[in-house]
Amino acid sequence: MSRSPIYVARPHLPDLADVIPLLEEIWDNRILSNNGPVLLRFESALSDYLGVEHISLVANATLGTVLAMQQAGVTSGEVITTPFSFVATSNAITLAGATPVFADLDPVTLNLDPTKIEALITPQTKALLPVHIFGVPCDIDGLAEVADRHGLKVLYDAAHAFGVHRNGQSILGHGDMSVLSFHATKVFNTFEGGAVISQDRETKLAIDSLANFGLANVERFNAIGTNAKMNEFSAAVGLAQLCGIDEVLSDRARVAQRYTERLSKIRGLSCPCLSGVVGHNHYAFPILIDSTFHISRDELQIRLEEVNVFARKYFSPLISDIEPYKTLSPAGPAGLPVARKIASEVLCLPIYPDLDAASQDRIIERVLEC
Ligand SMILES: *Cc1c(COP(=O)(O)O)cnc(C)c1O
Repeated sequence: MSRSPIYVARPHLPDLADVIPLLEEIWDNRILSNNGPVLLRFESALSDYLGVEHISLVANATLGTVLAMQQAGVTSGEVITTPFSFVATSNAITLAGATPVFADLDPVTLNLDPTKIEALITPQTKALLPVHIFGVPCDIDGLAEVADRHGLKVLYDAAHAFGVHRNGQSILGHGDMSVLSFHATKVFNTFEGGAVISQDRETKLAIDSLANFGLANVERFNAIGTNAKMNEFSAAVGLAQLCGIDEVLSDRARVAQRYTERLSKIRGLSCPCLSGVVGHNHYAFPILIDSTFHISRDELQIRLEEVNVFARKYFSPLISDIEPYKTLSPAGPAGLPVARKIASEVLCLPIYPDLDAASQDRIIERVLEC
């Protein structure tokens, strides 16, 4: 029996009935970009939902991060970041004009370990760029303490962290700025898109200007910006999608819960990101396969593929092991031992809001039978 493929992620779409009136409005008024009325409503609704005041909507998170770095004055020198992320994190640092320097991870959160940062700080260090990987909050207080002691900016790659809370508050309120991604495969999407969260209005307006070529008004430039504006169509998708977001988050939590119940007591397999995290968005469901499991992580991935289940080794290889970063900022074979171990063990299982129980059981049975 051939069974339909199950991919690691499946983009969520809003109800078409919620999108169409917004599209009709756009078709009527012919404002397609440049802070249109739908975008302004989306920005305001998003600000209410996320519980943060100053949001700049942008075309994608990569450009949003470049602009955040530019606005923070981090266009040269070194930026300490995590090697365990999507390559966009380091690309944004490089595109902004700085050089990524990779620090090791906390084995529990899979995020940057604040105690591994100090030894890497040099007179060239300008900023930290941590990632809330898989939506699990970084050690925000530990990172802030190191950054304050050395006068460094903290810019968060929050691409995975839509709607994540800590102590009842959005984690986006920390650091100098945070950048969300609304790419198709993220928890919340606008097909392509993103947002820069600032802590004050001046910074928000500066980001808005940088995303609009650096224009101050029709005759004057504040700075050399790029074009990173979000268009009205994406804003309509986002505004409509906000209606169903609580259900998306609870569906993701249900899938994660089912995996945890069935897989967390298997020898050689651990579910690292879930222990004690409240206010999580279940962006991904990573498992770690160590040497006491019957087969290797790579074999498990292949065995799942045999039944049409496409788990992914996010994020292996480490960014620090991919050219040109491997040569630019060499970690050395003995460096980054925690990150290296995690990258060799990680496998992300399929998780998305409409993953039905039967399909999920097919995945779980296959893992158990391996
Ligand atoms: C998806 C992703 C990005 C890039 O986001 P885009 O909106 O596609 O530019 C950056 N960082 C991480 C960790 C990501 O997963």
